[in-house]
Amino acid sequence: MQKLIYLLIVAVGIFGCQPKSPHPTLITFTATWCEPCKQVRPILEQLKEKIKVIDYDFDRNKKAVRKYKIRAVPTFILGDLRTHNIREVITALGMEQEFANAFAEKLTAGTLSTCSRWASERRVMSGDFAGKYGWKYHPWVKSLHDTRATFNYVMKGAQLGITEVAINRALYTLDKLKRDVLYVLPTAKGASKFSKGRFTVALSLSPYIRSMFTDLNSIDLKQAGNCTLYLSGSRGNNNLKNIPVSELILDELDEMDQAQIYLALERLSGQLRKCVWGISTPTVPAHGIHKVYQGSTQEHFMFQCPYCGRHTELVWPDCVEMIGEYETDVRCKESFLKCKECQHKLEQKDKPIFLAGGKWEPTAKNINKDVRGFYINQLYSYTVNAGELVSAFLRGFGDELAATEFWNSKLGLPFVAEGAQISEQMLDATIAEHSMNDVRPMIGGEKLITLGVDQGDMFNAVVCEWNIDGDASRDLSAASLCKVLWVGKHTSEDWGWLDQLMSEWQVLYAVIDADPHTNEARRFARRYPGFVGLTRYRRVKNAKEITTTEEETRGVSMHQCDRSSWISAVMSRFKSNPCRILLPRDIPHEFKQHLMSTVRTFKRDDHGNPSSHYVEVGPDHYLHCLVYNEISLHFSPMLTDTRIGKVL
Ligand SMILES: [Zn+2]
Repeated sequence: MQKLIYLLIVAVGIFGCQPKSPHPTLITFTATWCEPCKQVRPILEQLKEKIKVIDYDFDRNKKAVRKYKIRAVPTFILGDLRTHNIREVITALGMEQEFANAFAEKLTAGTLSTCSRWASERRVMSGDFAGKYGWKYHPWVKSLHDTRATFNYVMKGAQLGITEVAINRALYTLDKLKRDVLYVLPTAKGASKFSKGRFTVALSLSPYIRSMFTDLNSIDLKQAGNCTLYLSGSRGNNNLKNIPVSELILDELDEMDQAQIYLALERLSGQLRKCVWGISTPTVPAHGIHKVYQGSTQEHFMFQCPYCGRHTELVWPDCVEMIGEYETDVRCKESFLKCKECQHKLEQKDKPIFLAGGKWEPTAKNINKDVRGFYINQLYSYTVNAGELVSAFLRGFGDELAATEFWNSKLGLPFVAEGAQISEQMLDATIAEHSMNDVRPMIGGEKLITLGVDQGDMFNAVVCEWNIDGDASRDLSAASLCKVLWVGKHTSEDWGWLDQLMSEWQVLYAVIDADPHTNEARRFARRYPGFVGLTRYRRVKNAKEITTTEEETRGVSMHQCDRSSWISAVMSRFKSNPCRILLPRDIPHEFKQHLMSTVRTFKRDDHGNPSSHYVEVGPDHYLHCLVYNEISLHFSPMLTDTRIGKVL
């Protein structure tokens, strides 16, 4: 009985406090001869001050008893008499524990109309912030849960609670909005790890969430009633093509296949009731999360300084008093956060207090409220202190990986290390005397000439001539000088154009991108047996190795090699001193742009091991043409006894 009354009071409290609740009323049926009714009476009197209570005597109000089909006393009906929306009925017949639980559950569900409320009630956490899910230590996540924009992009430092928001959005959408969700991670392996890891943990900690799902057997597809949660990797041809969902969550956007992402986003735009989330630590400028963030509201988490009262935010380096001179300097620990307006020290332990009233505020000039972007860095973190940030910063001096990690993972900002991108100056330094219009080589000449072709909307082609001026038996790339003779592009339907290039330049060996028109490429290569190979990038253990197979391509050589290592080989030609590549004086600007569009950054594999890789921030077809020429070089010397003139 006591429990029942308690629940009743809670119920009234919840409904009574909700501004949107339409005139909640409590109807009670009691009788003078009923002992429990007598016990309830004083509480009912108190409730009358907070909520409208209509008190019927069971014996004297037969009409109402019939209307509400009352069969026992006491009976309580909670609802809105005006709209006849009855929220709950409790009778003395059903005072068992289950009823009380079900009642509490229904009351709770009725109040979980926003994702943040839902999460705080349904999610249970372990570890550092064990217990019911909340945002005391990361207050910036609360309103993130409840954004109503179609596109939401979060550019963030590591470990700031954003992935939990994404998980909450996914589960809330399934449970309350009754819509399908697609949760995408960079790789299928990552998606399955996420499914078995974080997702399973969320379920194991919360009985309610576990009860939502009717089928959990599949790793990449979870059934919650009529709704489905799909977990997928971003790579592969069909993964994002037909999105059957209302909520799309792209987790670690920067590591994904960018072309696929843009296709997916394009397809989603304009569709009603869609919601897209992109979250990531950034890598390089104008790529991935930074690219989409730039087109957003660009919101920062602003708060009031507890000392000067000014509206401010936490930024590097203005908000850090840096103490210590090198990474292992013990004085680093003495570094502290400060207000950039008044310079007053901000205590780490006070963060939950002074950040509690913080708000997301747009910094972009042209605001499309349907594309919201959020930026947050580790200066806000409750678990990372200023000393750790300073050590990480100092570690970055002379260490490209550490510097990249500091900017990307700690500050949540894109970063280009020195020398990680080819500059226009570097390109200009390689421009030589020759012209793209110089006389073509003679038939049967002795020159080592190669051709690299990138397939896409267009053919991009680059013709190179090679001079071996070092010890080729040790490292052919290092021992050779590359002279770019000619570059150009043409509609990719006309393979005859490539025939013309083969003959015009007396090409000794050509390497052609195997995709997307693999059949046509294969047919072309068959016309030049031993002089044309196809290529495709793949991940390999031994980075410099080229694997050549003929099975898949039926008689045509397919050279497979590691993308990063071979881009690196091309890049190093421009960076070495003296440079080992020469460009014609009339090289088109587009060629230069393609070479400047690739930036080296780092990523960590599933085991946490870092490796460098290249991301493109614009079209980069000519760069790949150079890579294919580099591969061609390794197959050309074998052909020194043959001349293409004999074949043509
Ligand atoms: Zn201040």
